[in-house]
Amino acid sequence: MKICVLVKEVPDAAVEKRMDPSTKRLDRSGEKNLNPFDTHAIEAAMQIKEGGAVDVDEIVAVTMGPESAVRALHKAVSLGADRSVHLTDPALAGSDVCATGYALAQVLKAESPDLVLLGQQSDDGECYTVGAVVADHLQMPSLTQVIKIDVQDGKLRCERQAEYGYDTVEVELPAVISVGDAINEPRYPSLKAIMGAKKKPLDTKSAADVGIDPSRVGEQGSRTAVLAINPPPAKEPGEIIEDEDTDETVQKIVSWLEERKLLA
Ligand SMILES: Cc1cc2nc3c(=O)[nH]c(=O)nc-3n(C[C@H](O)[C@H](O)[C@H](O)COP(=O)(O)OP(=O)(O)OC[C@H]3O[C@@H](n4cnc5c(N)ncnc54)[C@H](O)[C@@H]3O)c2cc1C
Repeated sequence: MKICVLVKEVPDAAVEKRMDPSTKRLDRSGEKNLNPFDTHAIEAAMQIKEGGAVDVDEIVAVTMGPESAVRALHKAVSLGADRSVHLTDPALAGSDVCATGYALAQVLKAESPDLVLLGQQSDDGECYTVGAVVADHLQMPSLTQVIKIDVQDGKLRCERQAEYGYDTVEVELPAVISVGDAINEPRYPSLKAIMGAKKKPLDTKSAADVGIDPSRVGEQGSRTAVLAINPPPAKEPGEIIEDEDTDETVQKIVSWLEERKLLA
């Protein structure tokens, strides 16, 4: 079995999210990191490989992004991927979620994996959509928010988190599966793996290398446009109740909760 894991470089969680008003895009300058959800996807691939229910020949990390995104690939390799593919091309800048999914699918077509794993959401765009778009282009079944994967007779039996509980779904391979953070506890890379990551094979591909139609990517090829950006409404200041007389304080809190119908 060959597993491809989609990984994305995103602004570090500690960096305050800022929009660039001139381009209406996220300002991605500053400290960056591998999208945390993608570390769970790599760990899921590693657990399938180490689980022994199926032979995993290789785990390939795939990203689309600017030059700096190579660091996300190094991190993915230090966490267990055998090699990586970096799709990078100025023509891809400004791609929306449909264009991104199409471009990633073109790389995946060339790799022909049995299983594509990805995070359920990126920490920056938070579209939750790339998995479905990629699956559609590849004409593969798609499962989202998966928190358990068991390999059984060449098929996958997955549990997915839903609003009402859990779905248990059996899926035939090849398939595209996005995972939630409850699926596992990602391992820490060893120092040796971090040091060795830059020596693992990394293929850099241009849009033309994977047969991407230039009219379907980039800002011009995107079907969505950001029309306006508005800051979230300012939060009203909270009410602070000082505890001078406890009975009175409790009464005030109970009245506050009752007014808002928060007490059953
Ligand atoms: C109009 C518009 C313009 C945009 N312009 C830009 C831009 O100029 N530059 C820019 O960087 N972004 C841009 N974006 C955002 C960018 O398109 C999204 O980040 C991208 O479509 C993926 O969405 P997401 O990260 O929210 O995906 P989600 O669906 O939330 O991500 C789920 C998973 O998909 C995988 N994934 C997502 N993106 C990638 C990737 N690039 N490579 C590998 N795996 C990936 C990861 O595993 C991730 O966990 C734009 C979006 C819109 C709507």
